[in-house]
Amino acid sequence: MQKITMTTPLVEMDGDEMTRILWQIIKDELLAPFVELNTEYYDLGLKKRDETGDQITVDAANATKKYGVAVKCATITPNAARVTEYDLHQMWKSPNGTIRALLDGTVFRAPIVVKGIEPCVKNWKKPITIARHAYGDVYRNVEMEIPAPGDVKLVYVPEGGSGEQELLVHHFEGSGIVQGQHNLDNSIESFAKSCFEYALDTKQDLWFATKDTISKKYDHRFKDLFADLYEQNYKEKFEEAGITYFYTLIDDAVARIMKAEGGFIWACKNYDGDVMSDMISSAFGSLAMMTSVLVSPHGYYEYEAAHGTVQRHYYKHLNGEETSTNSVATIFAWTGALRKRGELDKNQELQNFADKLEEATISTIESGKMTKDLALITTLENPTVLNSRDFIVAIREKLESLLG
Ligand code: NAP
Ligand code: MG
Repeated sequence: MQKITMTTPLVEMDGDEMTRILWQIIKDELLAPFVELNTEYYDLGLKKRDETGDQITVDAANATKKYGVAVKCATITPNAARVTEYDLHQMWKSPNGTIRALLDGTVFRAPIVVKGIEPCVKNWKKPITIARHAYGDVYRNVEMEIPAPGDVKLVYVPEGGSGEQELLVHHFEGSGIVQGQHNLDNSIESFAKSCFEYALDTKQDLWFATKDTISKKYDHRFKDLFADLYEQNYKEKFEEAGITYFYTLIDDAVARIMKAEGGFIWACKNYDGDVMSDMISSAFGSLAMMTSVLVSPHGYYEYEAAHGTVQRHYYKHLNGEETSTNSVATIFAWTGALRKRGELDKNQELQNFADKLEEATISTIESGKMTKDLALITTLENPTVLNSRDFIVAIREKLESLLG
């Protein structure tokens, strides 16, 4: 069989622990036999990040700006224990945080829906994709403990000019607490743009919700910036694509989502996204079935699994024990990236290959062959539990038959 060729490279970011093991098996079994892989490889494994003073992460992000599409393996975000374990020079920052800051992106998380792994909410038939605004609000707040009676004020001092503003937050009669939050118009606009673009890209409706009736300036600004951008740049495109933009209050959105069928994108403010993405992923069955893509308003895409490096399984693996780690989200990171590469390069063969690999993965599970995490929650009777490698090999067999 002639291998599929790629005209433009894809940025490949390797990672850590169990997902690094899966990464290699996926490449060997599911990609390299079928595609002449053209990747620019960056090793974001913790050892290499430490050796390069984390420059490798910055280089990988810059390469993503150059080529437009990246696929990333899960990586360790160091904490004190990791500094000791890997004898690190420094407690390096989260690579995802570094990459997101450089690409200015929004993260979209979507569950992979298969028959036999049923969502807890029985009317959810299609995936619900969560987009979380990753800047500001409570995550960049300042807080103060108020020990005793007194006034707390909000003061704006303009740089070199008049127009100072002052508001009384509260006159305290006793002790209490206070919090100051901010956000930036251009960050909200970037977020809105990424959401509108991703909705068009995936042909799904876009929902957005805030509490603008209570927060008449702060949340209202989010609502207005989304509405303005929609009217100016996206209304016609959405109508052409047959999709809608729907704004409502956050509590109304939550109520409707419980009754909805899915198949749309839910854009969330930072805190709502933090909370709701965990609810959605757990309700859809498994973190191991969640994909994640970072979409920048400049049109760069970085695909990955939503889960981490699955450390516990890695230590079993190092001990020579058998593991049954779910590779589905990592496989879908590759298919997402290959399909996007194919779209940008007008490489239909590559897009078809991505579709077939996803189909092979889903039908392997639906035929009853799966990893242990899924076997524990499936509604299929007598599932066959496969180890990490054998599951990928089973997908390869399906893939070969699909590709003829
Ligand atoms: P994790 O790697 O997501 O794993 C947590 C637990 O979830 C696992 O122990 C396992 O449960 C289950 N699980 C997750 N993915 C699975 C899969 N593919 N197949 C089967 N089970 C799976 O989270 P963590 O243990 O909190 O973090 C480990 C490392 O990952 C940390 O160093 C963290 O910094 C990093 N991390 C990276 C990213 C990223 O790169 N995007 C995201 C999150 C965390 P059982 O043990 O019960 O089988
Ligand atoms: Mg959370």
